[in-house]
Amino acid sequence: MTTSARLKIAEDTGRSRWDRARLRLIVPVGVIAAVAIGCLLYAVMTSARRANEVSLTREQQLVQEEIVARGVRVLREVESVASTAGATQAISVKHDRQWIERHLGNWLEAFFDHDLVLVVDGSNQVEYARSRISGDAGVIDLPTGLSPVLDLLRGRLSVLPSRSMPVPAAKDLRGSGHSVALIEEFLDRPAIVAAVSVGSDSDLAHGNDSAPIVVSVKYIDDHILRDIGSRLQLPGLRIIDNPARAAGQQVTALTDAQGVAIARFAWQPMRPGGQIAGILLPFVAIAIAGFALLAGLVLRHIRHTGETISAGETQLRHLALHDPVCGLPNRIYFGERLETVIAEVRRGGPSAAVFYIDLDHFKDVNDTLGHHVGDELILNVTQRLSHVMRGDDLVARLGGDEFAVITSCASDSYSLQAIAGRIISAVCAPYAINGHNIIIGASIGIAVIDRRAGDAADILRYADMALYRAKNEGRNRACIYDAAMDADLSQRKLLEGDLLHAIRNDGLSAAYQPIVNASGDTMVAVEALARWTHPTAGVISPAVFIPIAEHSGLIVELGEWMLRRACLEGRNWPNLTVAVNVSPLQFRRSDFVDLVERILKETEFDANRLELELTESTLLGNLETAELSMLRLKAIGVRFALDDFGTGYSSLLYLRRFPFDKLKIDSSFVLSIETAPDAAAIVHAVVSLGRGLGMRVTAEGVENAEQHLFLRAAGVHSMQGYRFGRPGPAADITARLASPDDYRVGSPDQEVALAS
Ligand code: C2E
Ligand code: CA
Ligand code: CA
Repeated sequence: MTTSARLKIAEDTGRSRWDRARLRLIVPVGVIAAVAIGCLLYAVMTSARRANEVSLTREQQLVQEEIVARGVRVLREVESVASTAGATQAISVKHDRQWIERHLGNWLEAFFDHDLVLVVDGSNQVEYARSRISGDAGVIDLPTGLSPVLDLLRGRLSVLPSRSMPVPAAKDLRGSGHSVALIEEFLDRPAIVAAVSVGSDSDLAHGNDSAPIVVSVKYIDDHILRDIGSRLQLPGLRIIDNPARAAGQQVTALTDAQGVAIARFAWQPMRPGGQIAGILLPFVAIAIAGFALLAGLVLRHIRHTGETISAGETQLRHLALHDPVCGLPNRIYFGERLETVIAEVRRGGPSAAVFYIDLDHFKDVNDTLGHHVGDELILNVTQRLSHVMRGDDLVARLGGDEFAVITSCASDSYSLQAIAGRIISAVCAPYAINGHNIIIGASIGIAVIDRRAGDAADILRYADMALYRAKNEGRNRACIYDAAMDADLSQRKLLEGDLLHAIRNDGLSAAYQPIVNASGDTMVAVEALARWTHPTAGVISPAVFIPIAEHSGLIVELGEWMLRRACLEGRNWPNLTVAVNVSPLQFRRSDFVDLVERILKETEFDANRLELELTESTLLGNLETAELSMLRLKAIGVRFALDDFGTGYSSLLYLRRFPFDKLKIDSSFVLSIETAPDAAAIVHAVVSLGRGLGMRVTAEGVENAEQHLFLRAAGVHSMQGYRFGRPGPAADITARLASPDDYRVGSPDQEVALAS
């Protein structure tokens, strides 16, 4: 999976997490809103329906009441003419037909719009009739529909005929009063039929049985209904035969005591519910719209906030997983990826390997040239590594000068070393940064990830061990982890403990190697070299225990012990310079100068005979303090030699800036004098450089006459090497001083001449 794919997944999971969170918020809010809106609508619709129901019942009631009120009115109208003294006189006494015609028939018809007016005598014979029904004024026979009302008034009926209902003004059916009115069907049409007995109070004192009666019929016709309709504001009020035909309209019926309909009415109902809903719904709609708008705004705000948060999360995650300087995945990311790769390989995926890369001298560049150059260098290294590796390899920066690569590849050492070789040559090519020409090295530890691989921590430990080995075997190389290294490491741990014990209990010793003048006949100095004979393992080489001491910090105590030892033993050789090695860790300690002064005082050793050997790496990174320390020690007479010249930076800067008295050409150059022609040229150059800067030059590792001859010719001031004496105990030096002739080497000229 590539870096961008990983990031994308991080973003996606961030987004889907946010989506879920939003869903968790939206769903309940949406449900609440929907329920609230539903309730509101339900309330509006229910109250509208309820209002409709109430209104309809009320309308029915009003229609019925109004029709009954009309009945009462018709009865009052009849009474207004039939119950007068004039009427009694004209009808019962004089039978004045003219009066009846004018004051009764005409009056009721013209003024009150009655449709049929009859006057019957005590035996129900029609005496007078006036009708608008068929224009026939001469009704002689009593229409059958009128018998019930007469019988009722005369007190002959105890039960109302069917399909008729009393107008409430007629209080008593049995005729204790003198008038009665019914609503009934008369000649197939609903009508109000009113009957009033005629006569004085004394005439009627015994009932209406034989009294003349005025009967009037008024149809409940369209005219009346229109009138009622407009009073009650019920448009379209009319009589209907079949309620089924009045769809969508409101109907009511006047019924008799048995519930049989006498007449049915229909009208356009007011339906106030519709109005209520009509008034309320726009507000509800506005409220819903407002709510939707609010919800939309809130959601948009939430989404915006969410996006900001998830963008921040993604950015944070990116920051948490990447190196801020070069943008490469960092240690955490690397660890996650390593676990994934291990799991894939265990499941049968292709084998892979971790390349643990350590830049040599990066810290020095950082310290001497500044962090901006250091950062720029890291960026350059990043680019080169990314360029060398395949797209799906993971290149990570684990720390200051540590990089790591995970790549799927064959696990044979040839393929692994080929990759490592590519990395090393890419990283070690010179860099041009801010006008500086920079060269760094790289050591690589390789751990293979195969199906039997342990966990990520194991793999890293293996790679680390292999890296350690690579560094110790000389830089710019790669080592592949093998099981022996594990044993090696635990062996080293054991040695570390033993070394500490040795330092603290005088378990070490110092060997001294002579340094002679150019002709090789006079010993001018000795170099003190640490020796350790392990109680069980025997002699252990400095090449083994010095790195252990440096790695563990024990070198500080070891160095102090050696300095004291060399000064103590060196007191016996008053004409020799005693050279003591100082490791970077030791020299960088703030109390180093005090320590040297203290030991010199303590051992009463002449400071002018002490020479401290520093390597270039000792000076790196703390130019000012290094220079200061050197100057303070030089002030009391101590001299300095630049050791192993030619293996480190070999920078003119150091030669010019630091007050070295001596330059020691590394034995590797001396060794290659005979084989590599340019080595000889370099030795020449170095010698003239040292001379030019006023330094003395010593060649190390001189083993044979040819080297001796060459170096002497090149102008080297002094020499050190097996040719002139191996490192040995102090007693050897004392003995050699006592009888120098026993140790003198022959002239190289003769030896070389002899050999050839
Ligand atoms: P060095 O300071 O470069 O010491 C010289 C090394 O070269 C010594 O190895 C010495 O035995 C070896 N040598 C001398 N002449 C010849 C020669 O003709 N041929 C070959 N092949 N080798 C020769 P040694 O004693 O094993 O020390 C190794 C390194 O350990 C030293 O390199 C030095 O860096 C370090 N070392 C030794 N003692 C001390 C010490 O007391 N303090 C510190 N800081 N480092 C020490
Ligand atoms: Ca040395
Ligand atoms: Ca050396």
